[in-house]
Amino acid sequence: MDGNARAAVDALFEAGTLEREPLRELIDGRDGETADYLFEKARVRQRENFGNSVYLRGLIEFTNYCRNDCLYCGIRRSNRNCERYRLTEEDILACCEQGYALGFRTFVLQGGEDMRFTDGDLCRIVSAVKSAHPDCAVTLSVGERSRESYQAWFDAGADRYLLRHETADPAHYALLHPKELSWDNRVRCLYDLKDIGYQVGAGMMVQAPYQTTDHLITDLYFLRELRPDMIGIGPFIPHKDTPFRDKPAGTAELTLFLLGILRLMFPQVLLPATTALGTIDPRGREKGILAGANVVMPNLSPAGVRGKYLLYDGKICTGDEAAECRVCMQNRIRSVGYEVEVSRGDAPRFRRQN
Ligand code: SAM
Repeated sequence: MDGNARAAVDALFEAGTLEREPLRELIDGRDGETADYLFEKARVRQRENFGNSVYLRGLIEFTNYCRNDCLYCGIRRSNRNCERYRLTEEDILACCEQGYALGFRTFVLQGGEDMRFTDGDLCRIVSAVKSAHPDCAVTLSVGERSRESYQAWFDAGADRYLLRHETADPAHYALLHPKELSWDNRVRCLYDLKDIGYQVGAGMMVQAPYQTTDHLITDLYFLRELRPDMIGIGPFIPHKDTPFRDKPAGTAELTLFLLGILRLMFPQVLLPATTALGTIDPRGREKGILAGANVVMPNLSPAGVRGKYLLYDGKICTGDEAAECRVCMQNRIRSVGYEVEVSRGDAPRFRRQN
């Protein structure tokens, strides 16, 4: 690590931001020693805000039908090899029931953009989960919809929404998505969700095809403006049945470095150590926590459908039962000196409402 890199980390630690040029030098010139220093500083901010707690979210992947054709995604509509499934409302409630008994207090209902689930269906499901578990938060992650839909689900009790912005550069966005999808609409959705009152999660894949360091810096500045409550990042991993099958996967190394930078730029943000990070490196999630992450999202989907929600090749935990995932995750978190917290794990600016 040279003096400039150390000074850049110190400046990020103190000011929470950095100009484009020193940020680029920090990212492009990174080495192991700089990463260790960055992670040490990131852990200071992590502990100030979250102690040694790691929040749990139970992920329920309730449909892999999708109307979209994103070039990177294994459940894109034109993937004929994807075996499609939809959970019923009863299945979803049973997953929550089981998750509750395992100590989960947040349920994330994620799926492709499956229009068979109407606004009314999702309202009913959200309110059924909330009435069965009033002390839990419900997070939705079902892609781009109208402001009216988002409002209806919020009114039905949904607390949070995850919608990665994917890339903050519109030209890069166009290289990753079919032409009917637009960056403007993605961003419109994010601002509508914030305005309605959701706790919002944004984020991007690391080393998605055609991504440059400049794009990543644009992402960081975009996130500064949006001020989301959660930032989900994970490496891009190719899927064999997509147009990006031959593109190289992102690395755990750069993903971890960016987690460290994010923790310094956003001391209070919820930062998951993602499944994609655990897929690219068997200890990726533990390393993610040591780089500043403070959330994990074990899978609560029924074992029978897990192997069908394949966004990328090699996804981990597709054969486990929810209870196994929970114990495995707890052991992993303890192995690096942290504890799982059984609570809703709200973003700091929402905590007083509990
Ligand atoms: N349909 C919803 C949406 O668009 O937000 C939620 C599901 S979508 C599959 C969830 C996230 O998976 C995307 O935001 C994307 O970043 C990530 N993802 C998809 N394909 C991926 C891949 N090949 N490698 C890594 N992450 C991927």
